[in-house]
Amino acid sequence: MSSVIPIRAETTAGCTDVVPLVERGQREVFCGLTGIIWMHRKIQDAFFLVVGSRTCAHLIQSAAGVMIFAEPRFGTAIIDERDLAGLADVHEELDRVVQQLLSRRPDIRLLFLVGSCPSEVIKLDLSRAAERQNQIHFPAVRVLNYSGSGIETTFTQGEDACLAAMVPGLPAAAPQATQSLMVVGTLADVVEDQMRSLLERMGLSVNFFPPRNSQSMPEVGSNTRFLLAQPFLADTARALQSRGAQHLPAPFPLGVEGTTAWLQAAASAFGVAPEVFENATAAPRQRAEKALAVQRQTLQGQRIFFFPDSQLEIPLARFVHRELGMDLVEVGTPYLHRQHMAQELAWLPVGTRISEGQDVDLQLERCLADAPDLVVCGLGLANPLEAKGITTKWAIELVFTPIQGYEQAVDLAGLFSRPLKRRLKLAA
Ligand code: SF4
Repeated sequence: MSSVIPIRAETTAGCTDVVPLVERGQREVFCGLTGIIWMHRKIQDAFFLVVGSRTCAHLIQSAAGVMIFAEPRFGTAIIDERDLAGLADVHEELDRVVQQLLSRRPDIRLLFLVGSCPSEVIKLDLSRAAERQNQIHFPAVRVLNYSGSGIETTFTQGEDACLAAMVPGLPAAAPQATQSLMVVGTLADVVEDQMRSLLERMGLSVNFFPPRNSQSMPEVGSNTRFLLAQPFLADTARALQSRGAQHLPAPFPLGVEGTTAWLQAAASAFGVAPEVFENATAAPRQRAEKALAVQRQTLQGQRIFFFPDSQLEIPLARFVHRELGMDLVEVGTPYLHRQHMAQELAWLPVGTRISEGQDVDLQLERCLADAPDLVVCGLGLANPLEAKGITTKWAIELVFTPIQGYEQAVDLAGLFSRPLKRRLKLAA
């Protein structure tokens, strides 16, 4: 039975003190393996070896849409019946697969052994396996492990687990090093280049984590200040803080307001003069504001319901409400990190219904009763809702598409307006 606590507190500053509707029941979300799809494109000399079942292999293969002959930088070591029945030594089998892989792919410099539900169920110790592999292959190849299992992680938490696994291996910055800025979270290369250029125009140099190549891991130490580019990186942030780095609290760089406040957090921490900040950001900010005004005509007053998927829901809700005029029916998030979300919550209208976790049947009932104009949800819920005449947007697209920063603000708005326009055309 799920526990439901339907209490909502009134607040004075947005939703800062909100008590979310907490649900712990049946969930309809992807597992943490999904993160491999965007991370394997980012770290170009890394390989993700899922230690799992055929189901895991199918999930990754079909979600990534990659042909097998394209030599992707991910694969699955299948745990089969012999392993499950204890007829084979799984560690020996895994060592053999890794050996084969590394001899065939000398371009791999960083190998992740990724845990799955089956490897969790048979209690396969992948940290021990990674240690053993490092003794053989390091320094040519570094081997790390993390879990993407659906028992332990949902959707975007796989990225958090992956980045957190890399933090202990980051080079240490000298204690007397000058303050440095790190942006944390996987961003599309095009977004990364834009962010770098904006920060450089303010005179700031920046490192991105994860980097595009495992050989250029950023240094970390007590002089590191980091901005989170993604809202689902609680463990990574904690790991960086344990290395002495300091988090710069900020909203997330979605939409014009979010991007400006996010850049401002870095500018303030590094003493950038207000006129330098203004000169660096004015042109792209104004371009984005103008483009958003057009999208607002379609979206103003439309009622939106977010199911919990990626932890991007609260920043997205803030963006569609404040910059596009949409009304928030419910904002579901798999997990509410109050500290990282503090500035986002303050920007939500008082009384917003925020839910944390999921009991999918109860949430569907609420959604159908509320009859919103647009629902953001996972693939499994989209078809049944569309069949009931409700317009949907797949949450996964919001993670796969470059949406951060000024130049992408209008594309992000387009992801919400397109399904509504399509519905109108179909009705006509
Ligand atoms: S890790 Fe678990 S939830 Fe994810 S694909 Fe494999 S079996 Fe399914």
